[in-house]
Amino acid sequence: LQHIEDARQPFHANQWHGAPLCASEGITGDTSQVLNPSDPNEIVGQITWATPETVALAASSARPWLASPQERCATLNRAADLLEQNFGELFALLHREAGKTMLDVVAELREAVDFLRYYAARTNGAPARGVIACISPWNFPLAIFTGQISAALAAGNAVLAKPAEQTPLIAYRAVQLLHDAGVPRSVLQLLPGAGDVGAALTSQPQVSGVAFTGSTATAQIIHASVAKHLAPGTPLIAETGGLNAMIVDSTALPEQAVQAIVESAFQSAGQRCSALRCLYVQEDIAKGFLEMLTGAMDSLVATTPWDLRSDLGAVIDQEARAGIMEHIDAAQSEGRELKRCTVPTNGYYVPPTLIRVNSIADMTREIFGPVLHVATFKATEIDDVIDAINATGYGLTFGLMTRIDDRVQHVTERVHAGNIYVNRNQIGAIVGSQPFGGEGLSGTGPKAGGPFYVDRFRHTQAPTTGTP
Ligand code: ADP
Repeated sequence: LQHIEDARQPFHANQWHGAPLCASEGITGDTSQVLNPSDPNEIVGQITWATPETVALAASSARPWLASPQERCATLNRAADLLEQNFGELFALLHREAGKTMLDVVAELREAVDFLRYYAARTNGAPARGVIACISPWNFPLAIFTGQISAALAAGNAVLAKPAEQTPLIAYRAVQLLHDAGVPRSVLQLLPGAGDVGAALTSQPQVSGVAFTGSTATAQIIHASVAKHLAPGTPLIAETGGLNAMIVDSTALPEQAVQAIVESAFQSAGQRCSALRCLYVQEDIAKGFLEMLTGAMDSLVATTPWDLRSDLGAVIDQEARAGIMEHIDAAQSEGRELKRCTVPTNGYYVPPTLIRVNSIADMTREIFGPVLHVATFKATEIDDVIDAINATGYGLTFGLMTRIDDRVQHVTERVHAGNIYVNRNQIGAIVGSQPFGGEGLSGTGPKAGGPFYVDRFRHTQAPTTGTP
């Protein structure tokens, strides 16, 4: 808590002025200000962007990490120590840059440290792939960023890391700390930029693997670029979006279900890939259940960013807010809005909202914000609901609330989803090291966080020896 108190101090943005941390620091693009989504009048810092030219120079100077597995392990653990020692400073930066609640920031810092230690423990002597491009999103700008690069580094690769354009500063600071811990600068290079820098990265001939987390549309563009520019067999590990559903049947415990739904749909202002988007409630209980749910939404706290009780932060930027509000307003004009909460008006806050739909098939795109869609089903229709969920083509998370044991098996065997949550909230990985990821339009696997992820960043060999 002392860290949190320290972090509340007035902010001096000029302590944050990042440039590409790479071999070609002299060649840079424009400089931009990074604003606080909860209070866009506050400048969090400045960033100087890399350019496609910077990327080419960084790729040609990238060198695999030749340290022994033991040294790599020790260095990544040292980086985890440094993250912990600089907790207060990182807390303030992440809180301001990403507009997250204080509790979400603490959880994210812990997850980043977890990833470093988890992959540090999984170094071995297998050969690295070479140069890995890591392209990360803004919704977990420290945890996902650190998860990707620590797995690639643990395997001994050189890493070219591109954070999302909305959140380059926390990534910048993380890379500085990894360098301080002893990762050579030719091994880990940071290339802040937008899609053009990402596109340049995925077309460098030196790149021998790509780790990506972001939208399905961008994953498809990267997939095409990898196929066109890089060697056959270059792995693309993509974690993308979802149209995540939950089924609540008439045997579910209502209090437990309501609490799980509120957390799954509205935590992190709905900006989690795992977040619940479409709730199916059994018709017999729907009326009373939805009254309980809207009552629970009333007690969600979205106040000032420095309120420790706050359940909900801002969404990432003006564009994100406008897109989500357009969706909410359309539902309202069609008479399908069941509940809209109030939120502060000065930052990019979006009100937690409940919208009525007939089926998940009505949802044509992932709304990446605190918006929950709700449909009802009859007891005899459960297989139709499963078919509709599978027909979206996504397959990231799925939740089920029931007290019928046979139903758990029946439903979970049929639903296509990478992570399934039964009688609990559906909120991504429970700890940083838990496997998390989807199938179909939701990603390529293997799951981030689990033991298989790091193996994608190294070669397997089949040695055969004769007698000398
Ligand atoms: P979101 O819609 O959540 O912002 P994106 O998929 O656009 O997700 O962004 C995720 C990451 O992909 C970001 O770092 C972004 O800059 C990067 N990106 C965007 N377009 C491309 C592209 N054509 N090639 C490579 N990376 C890209």
